[in-house]
Amino acid sequence: MKLKTKDEIAQLPSSDGCYQTMESVVLTEPRLSMIERRLTELLKIVQLESKGQPIEADGFRLRDPAHWSAPAPPAFSDMWHISSACNMRCPFCYEEGDPDSGSVLNEPAGMASLREIETRIKYRDQARGTGLFQPLTYINEIFCNPDAIEIMERLRGQAPDEVFTFVTNGTYLTEEVVERIAAMKPVFFNFSVNSLDPHIRTRVLRDLDPEVAIRSIELLRKYEVPYLGSLVCWPTIPWSDIESTVRKLDAAGCAIIRFSLSAYSKHLKGRRFDRQTFWDTGVALARRLASELDTPIKIEPYHYADPSNAANIVGTLVGSASHQAGLRPGDRILSVNDRFVPSVNHALSALSLAANSGQDVRLDVARADATVCTVTLGTGRACLFPASEMQDFPGFPYGLILVENLQYKHLKLVADAIRARGARRVLLLSSELMRPIVEKMIEETQPFGDTQVMIEVPSNRHFGGTVVLGDLLVVDDYVAFIREHQARLDASIDLVVIPSSPFSRSGWMRDLTGKPASDIERLTGIPVEFVECRPLNG
Ligand code: SF4
Repeated sequence: MKLKTKDEIAQLPSSDGCYQTMESVVLTEPRLSMIERRLTELLKIVQLESKGQPIEADGFRLRDPAHWSAPAPPAFSDMWHISSACNMRCPFCYEEGDPDSGSVLNEPAGMASLREIETRIKYRDQARGTGLFQPLTYINEIFCNPDAIEIMERLRGQAPDEVFTFVTNGTYLTEEVVERIAAMKPVFFNFSVNSLDPHIRTRVLRDLDPEVAIRSIELLRKYEVPYLGSLVCWPTIPWSDIESTVRKLDAAGCAIIRFSLSAYSKHLKGRRFDRQTFWDTGVALARRLASELDTPIKIEPYHYADPSNAANIVGTLVGSASHQAGLRPGDRILSVNDRFVPSVNHALSALSLAANSGQDVRLDVARADATVCTVTLGTGRACLFPASEMQDFPGFPYGLILVENLQYKHLKLVADAIRARGARRVLLLSSELMRPIVEKMIEETQPFGDTQVMIEVPSNRHFGGTVVLGDLLVVDDYVAFIREHQARLDASIDLVVIPSSPFSRSGWMRDLTGKPASDIERLTGIPVEFVECRPLNG
């Protein structure tokens, strides 16, 4: 765990003059691990010298970083890993539940220096979307890095029009910081609020100076900085406090509230709870608040609360066209410009097509009481905060918030793989949350003919506890499940199909522990196909 006191944070080394650890690049540039292994072997038989004296190598450097330039995420993603320390200690923190040394993201605390960022900027080609590989560590509190604001301003200079996104726990959001953030608009950040009660912040979240984060929501409103306010439901935070936090965020003009239902891994210390009861209580509270308040409340994992594939509206940005038209959470879009939209993904593409071409759009919408109304949403400029700040952001056409789902093309990809392999008995591995959606889509479209397709859900042994997100499965989970499943069957499996999302943290198809996805086929001896699929549940 990388919780640090103020004094410890001040002492943390920046990467200036230090080496970057190999673990931090295992997912983004695994070729370096291979080079390290080769050099280590070589050094067993070679003694290096300097000025006639033997020396021991403790690292290596890349001769020409330009040779390592590759497709890279947007410039601002350099921000996400500039500090791998945090000044709080939330009981639900993902680092608390990660097995010791079990994840390559679990790196010792450190800070990126301004010099490192300058080097990254030097080798970034905005037009081509290329740059140096990034370290991949847990995202911690960026403002623990004393250079954070300066780094942000340098990156803003690189990409003047991009929406600047980052994550913070709010403990550094003083007026001076909020003012400087506001000067860097367009900005949309994830504020991990969790509670706005000083006692809960101090006792449960271990925020030693809770008033800064508490006051910051008024400052963010004053400077009209839009943000997503995120809270994690956890048994040591009373539901009454969660409700109070949501209401305060709503009153303060938070753009979207993320309402996360938590689970615990077997490695986490502390209180156990019944996940389903806890989640159902959370969903009921979130739905009640969504029906009373204006701010959209997005439950995560979203597909637990809404296992349908329909175009159900999560909410509308306050001040947007859809908010002004009176659309409400739970309304279902039936058609866009008279075209029937059978799924949320169809609605999303029709809406973004219309928004991009600057058209007004006409929606037929069904309400819970079975009435159907027609609304026309104009492309005129929204006049109220926060929609006024977000109207040009991608992903919220007309201020509507909808959550994408699996696409029918994913089933087509599975069918193509089955056909290409000539497979007759196929094991399709899904997750607890996505399985009902996959089954429904298969029932609707019957894409596999008479091929026997078994849909199964591997359990997450790596994290254990009540963790059910498929994207947290690792290679060993898949291998163990496939072996056991095969042993139970009287006929062999021809093909295993797995979504690629658990391996999508970099372009190298590696799991959280750094193991390559190709190990699943190598270790089970059964052909494996990965279906290209982005993470969906938060
Ligand atoms: S603020 Fe975030 S990173 Fe820090 S302890 Fe809490 S959950 Fe973990």
